[in-house]
Formats: sequence, C-alpha cells, structure tokens
Amino acid sequence: MLEVYQRTSRVRYHQQKLVLVFSAMRHFAQELRDVGYRVDYVAQDQAGNNGSFHQELLKAVNRYAVDRIIVTESSNWNLWRQMQGWQQKLGIPLEIREDTRFFCSREIFAAWAKDRKELRMEYFYRMLRRKTGWLMDGELPVGGQWNYDRENRKTIPKGVTLPAWRRFQPDAITQSVIELVRDRFPDHFGELGSFGWAVTRQDALAALEDFIHYNLPSFGDYQDAMQLGEDSLFHSTLSPYINLGLLSPREVCEAALLAYRDGTAGLTAVEGFIRQILGWREFMRGVYWLKMPGYRSSNYFQATRPLPDFYWSAETEMRCLHEAINATRRTAYAHHIQRLMLTGNFALLSGIDPVAVDNWYLSVYADAYEWVEMPNTLGMALYADGGVVGSKPYAASGAYIQRMSDYCQNCSYDPKIKLGEQACPFNYLYWNFLMENEERLKSNPRMAMPYRTLARMPEKQREQIKTQSQFFLENNQKEG
Ligand SMILES: Cc1cc2nc3c(=O)[nH]c(=O)nc-3n(C[C@H](O)[C@H](O)[C@H](O)COP(=O)(O)OP(=O)(O)OC[C@H]3O[C@@H](n4cnc5c(N)ncnc54)[C@H](O)[C@@H]3O)c2cc1C
Ligand code: SF4
Repeated sequence: MLEVYQRTSRVRYHQQKLVLVFSAMRHFAQELRDVGYRVDYVAQDQAGNNGSFHQELLKAVNRYAVDRIIVTESSNWNLWRQMQGWQQKLGIPLEIREDTRFFCSREIFAAWAKDRKELRMEYFYRMLRRKTGWLMDGELPVGGQWNYDRENRKTIPKGVTLPAWRRFQPDAITQSVIELVRDRFPDHFGELGSFGWAVTRQDALAALEDFIHYNLPSFGDYQDAMQLGEDSLFHSTLSPYINLGLLSPREVCEAALLAYRDGTAGLTAVEGFIRQILGWREFMRGVYWLKMPGYRSSNYFQATRPLPDFYWSAETEMRCLHEAINATRRTAYAHHIQRLMLTGNFALLSGIDPVAVDNWYLSVYADAYEWVEMPNTLGMALYADGGVVGSKPYAASGAYIQRMSDYCQNCSYDPKIKLGEQACPFNYLYWNFLMENEERLKSNPRMAMPYRTLARMPEKQREQIKTQSQFFLENNQKEG
C-alpha cells in the first residue's frame, strides 16, 4: 500500500482529506495484518518515498521480483490511461479488473448513452431502478411516481430538532497522521483541530446506522434547505466513506430500503436518497468516462475570471457564501445545496474560469475525486459542458437563497433590493449573467421565463445592472 502524494501537486487537498485517506489506509493495513496478511506499506514520510506513484510501483515490482500485476481499474482518467502502458513499461503481464463497486459499468453506460440526443439523469435512473428492482412494483414505480423531487424542497420550520452529526474521536493512528499532515502540509486549506471523520469500516457503519435512524425519515423533505450554523442538516455525510470504499453504495441503499420496508422512513425520503446514489452518483461517473479527456476543458460560456480570494479565506460580506466556505474550511464538507446554489451559483454568475472552480472543489472536500467532482462542477454547477449533465444552468438570484435559508436575515445585503449598495449581489449578477449569455441561452425552452422578464426590463435598468455587476466583479474579488 502506497501513501503517494507530492507536496508540489497542483491539487492542494484539504488537510482533513489527507488525514482521512492516510488514516483509513493505515487502519485498513492494520486490519489486514490482524487477519494474517503480509502488508508492505510505504508511508508518506518513509525515507525514499518522494510521492511518485510510478516510482513506488517500480520499486515494489523490483522488491518482490513480481511476475504479474493484477489491478482494479483506476477511477481517475489520467491514471487509467497510464495503466494501459504499464505492461509494456514494466515488461510483465498486467490484468486490469473492473471496479465492481458501481451499479453500472462504463460499457453499459456507453451503450445506454449511444444514439441519445440528450443524456438525462432521470431516464438513466429509471433504467437502474428497473434493473435493481428497487422501489418497483413490477414494471411500475412504487407509489406511481418515479421521482418525488418536488416534495424534496421544503424549508425547515422553526422548532424542528436537527439530528446531531455523528463524529468520531481520533485514535492514536489518526493522531499521528494529523501530526504528519500538520508538519508536511501546514499551508493547505482547512482546519485540523475539528477532525471527526470515521476512518474504519466499523465506524463508517455506525455513521450509516445513525443516518438511517435519525436523518433518513426527514431526508426527503429538507434536501434543499440551508440553515445558519447547521453544517449537515438531514444529509447523510456518507459520501467520503462511500467514495473511499469504507461503505459500499449497495449496502447504503439497501439499508435505506430496509427502513422503508420496516416503515421507519417514508417513500419520498427513501426514493430521494436512492435517487442520489443510484441516479446521480452513477450518472456522474458515466458522464465522466464517456466525455473524458475533453471534458476537463469544457467552457461553454468562455468564462475567464480568476477565483476570488474569499473562496479560500471565507472573508466576504455575503453571509451565505461566508457560511458555506467557513463550514468547508472547518469540516471539509458542505451539503449539496451549499455547493450548487451558493459557491457554484456564484461562480457561474460571476463567469469564473471553470478550471479554477474545478480545482477548488477538488481541493476542499473530503469526498472529492475527479470522476465525481468534475461532472458536478463543470456540468451541474457551471453548465460549462453546454448541457451534457443538466438541461439548463442552475442560475439563481437572492430570492432563491432567501426562500431556502435563513442566511439573508443575517446579511449586510438585502435580497429584496435589486440595485444599489444594499442590493444582494446575486440579484444583479443573475440578470447580468442572462444578458451576457443571451445568445447562448435564449433558445433554451427552460430559460424562456427569465428571458421574457428580461425582454420587459427597461433599457436604463439593464445598463445599471451591467455597470453595478462590472464594478462588483472588478472590485470585490481579490484573486485567490
Ligand atoms: C459543485 C459540486 C461539486 C461536487 N463534488 C462532489 C465530489 O467531489 N464528490 C462527491 O461525492 N459529490 C460531490 N458533489 C455531489 C454532492 O454535493 C455530494 O455528494 C453530497 O453533498 C455529499 O454529502 P452527503 O453524503 O451528505 O450527501 P446526501 O445529501 O446525504 O446524499 C446521499 C449520497 O448521494 C450521493 N450524491 C448525492 N448527490 C450527488 C451528486 N450530485 N453526484 C454524485 N453523488 C451524489 C452521495 O454519495 C451522497 O453521499 C458535488 C456537487 C456539486 C454541486
Ligand atoms: S442577501 Fe444575498 S448575499 Fe446576503 S445571504 Fe442573502 S443571498 Fe446571500
């Protein structure tokens, strides 16, 4: 097992992400040794480990006079591509095996996508619902509807008790990795003091159990809600464990289905949860493999602005963004709507270079791996792929954020004001974005309503929006 990560890497991961991955690896190595395996483990700070995967692999091949390599296909396109050359480079046979932790192989996704004019998650999800038989009544969905998305958009009423986020006390192994990361990567983004992620399968299973018991029953209702000071609400916070392999997506879904059958969680909650994993997660992976390597240079809007400094410092007067980025710094986590409708929406409206945005999301989240992060960022949040992932940009003004959260009551801007010093920046940036991209977007039927409103807008107001947006974008965003 190799802890390979170079200090010079372009992606400077959140300190907690590094601790999570290295500590989970060390615990896993220990578990293997406990049941009698011999494990050759190259730690990050071991003499001679310069963080290069290929050099360490070569050393291991020589160390053991290896006569063949069996490897699971990499989830990362670059590494996967490099793997194709290993046999020739190393001069020994190589067997690349499929990663069986997914519901849909790359080949099945490619076959599903072939000849389709558009790829829509909903149809892909229905195909997998039929294939798994989950929440199905013969050929029909249980309850008569495939998707209860419309019922997943409630705001959290006052007086609702929110479940506690299950955290885990770092043990001696994790403590030593915390010290290592503190020592070797002191200037990476994030705080280490609040580390509380599970690093063993046993603890990840305990986190799953907690989610099913305390969060799942209300998961569906409040999926899109945001609340001041609340990092996880009813979300599962399981993505780092699923992506790392501490939990399998199948067992997570099966636990939710069991809760439905037992009557402890309702259909809208369980369908909403299954859709995220069976639908969105698998769909994003399929898009990644179908569209790479060209996908990484997607830039439909030709956006070029640098990433503002506050994405790293959280120092901004915009309360919503401050909350999301600060949570990210403390925990290496932000829930989906914070990622999509706050940091993502702001980057979209401001025309920030997709490469910089992509690098930010890959760096700051504990669950970030390119295969899932990139389609979410370039496709879902930025619409940089021109509509491969989504049928329209997730662009929204302050009114959306006000409706779904209590941030605006605590902000120095006012979401009801459209122009002027007190105006919420999301308001004028929203209309400015629509104006700047009118040629690209106005024929999209799903954008017809905002463009009708824009068409009725007096010329003077349009000019004021442009001027204020320009001023804001040039003055309020020191480059990060
Ligand atoms: C800009 C942006 C970047 C993102 N980057 C990542 C990333 O690097 N890694 C990652 O795993 N997710 C990413 N997501 C998707 C989603 O935001 C996270 O999976 C989710 O917030 C993780 O928190 P949770 O476990 O509490 O999720 P829950 O809300 O509890 O959802 C349950 C599970 O469904 C899956 N899921 C939900 N939405 C998605 C989605 N859109 N794509 C893939 N899986 C999904 C996850 O496995 C998650 O654990 C990103 C979303 C956006 C908008
Ligand atoms: S007023 Fe605007 S900037 Fe402030 S919290 Fe609300 S949406 Fe965010």
